[in-house]
Amino acid sequence: MADKNDSMDKIVSLCKRRGFVFPSSEIYGGYGAIYDLGPYGVELANAVKREWWKCMVQLRQDIVGLDSSIFMHPKIWEASGHVAGFADPLTECKVCHVRSRVDHLLEEAGIEADEKMSEEQINALLFANLDKIKCPSCGKKDFTPVRKFNLLVKSNLGNFADDWSKEPAYLRGETCQGIYVNYKNVLDSSRVQVPFGIAQIGKAFRNEITARQFIFRTREFEQMEMQYFTRPENEMEEYEKLRDYRWQYYTRHLGLAEKNLKWHKHKNLVFYAQEAYDIEYAFPFGFKELEGVHARGDYDLTQHAKYSGKDLSYTDPKTGEKFVPHIIESSVGVGRTVLAVLTEAYTEEDLDGDQRIVMKFPKKLAPVKAAVFPLLKNKPELVSLAKEIYDALKLDFMCEFDDNGNVGKRYRRQDEIGTPYCITVDFETLESRTVTVRDRDTMEQIRVAITDLAGWLRTNLSSDSK
Ligand code: ATP
Repeated sequence: MADKNDSMDKIVSLCKRRGFVFPSSEIYGGYGAIYDLGPYGVELANAVKREWWKCMVQLRQDIVGLDSSIFMHPKIWEASGHVAGFADPLTECKVCHVRSRVDHLLEEAGIEADEKMSEEQINALLFANLDKIKCPSCGKKDFTPVRKFNLLVKSNLGNFADDWSKEPAYLRGETCQGIYVNYKNVLDSSRVQVPFGIAQIGKAFRNEITARQFIFRTREFEQMEMQYFTRPENEMEEYEKLRDYRWQYYTRHLGLAEKNLKWHKHKNLVFYAQEAYDIEYAFPFGFKELEGVHARGDYDLTQHAKYSGKDLSYTDPKTGEKFVPHIIESSVGVGRTVLAVLTEAYTEEDLDGDQRIVMKFPKKLAPVKAAVFPLLKNKPELVSLAKEIYDALKLDFMCEFDDNGNVGKRYRRQDEIGTPYCITVDFETLESRTVTVRDRDTMEQIRVAITDLAGWLRTNLSSDSK
């Protein structure tokens, strides 16, 4: 785990330097809170998604996957309450015109608030606490009255030809609506029975007011969501199980330290919610929401039944009993998870006065599993044997071949992208058919026979000590 004095700046700089994350459209000056994943970022994000899918679908007989579209019928966003109420409280500094989320300004001043409060409530709180609050940009205390700002991103899809939709088509603000509206299809086409879950990974879009925390809050992001359909009377019992399961996922599967995670119970619940907790992570800028685990009652299916006119109740195949399932959900962003994993992995070590930066990712998340080096670039016999080894290993593992610069530099580079093993072909290799394998974390080197390498890697990569 990174020391707490690791600043966000160091992580941002490493992400840029080593190709994890780039600001979108950088050559045009960037584009408001949108980021691109570089070569190692995309590997890391894919590994995070694979691990989530494994936990939420592969290991669960009662959960199935889905990939619904980004565009959905505009009525869905009315039914869900997003058109009327998916809004954050905004104020603008009258001096420098920077906009801020008022619930965040209040929270940072230690005042309990959240975005679900009414415009009037949160306006009163802001102006009653001006002694503790200032504009994060210029430091002045001259704010416009609070107004709610809708986060849905509109598009012009369908606004041509016969104009089939007078309502704007939105880019989805969350992925779970695609799950709710497919609940009947899944039920009718797969062998699931209540209780069961539907899991999905996909893009979501929000017109976030403030987006100053790197990939923590972006306007385009990916969500990993699982909605679990329960009998009404079992909702809270299943909810507790889901909370426990999600905690285990972070600690056991992603290797996040327990001390860096905590539960935050929502005090101001939306009217339909039975219970809501967030899992918070100790990001470099403090404990902040990583994931939401919510018990949503029958709100979602009831709303969609009402707006679509379709019966979305469930009939128990054994008893014939009919009811509207209640829903519990787990919802987390890929970008926030990647940032948590980067924060956890970032380590600075002192090596005889030299600094070593090493990303101690769990091996299963490491973007590159092994790097293969010839000791010297100008020795064709070393280079060709190293290439041969690389060509064989790449069939099973994400590998890199590198013959640039001295071996020490190559190690440093692989440390910074978190590669668990570096394999070097040296002169002894030509005699003994063994290579050195250097461990990222201990920096110890052992010799392994070329013929055993793939098996050795398989065993050691699966023994995730971290
Ligand atoms: P916040 O209070 O931080 O705005 P939220 O409570 O609105 O988040 P949810 O709507 O519950 O978030 O979304 C579920 C999850 O999706 C969040 O826990 C987070 O991991 C992720 N998420 C939400 N908004 C963003 C965003 N703008 N950028 C990146 N990830 C996001």
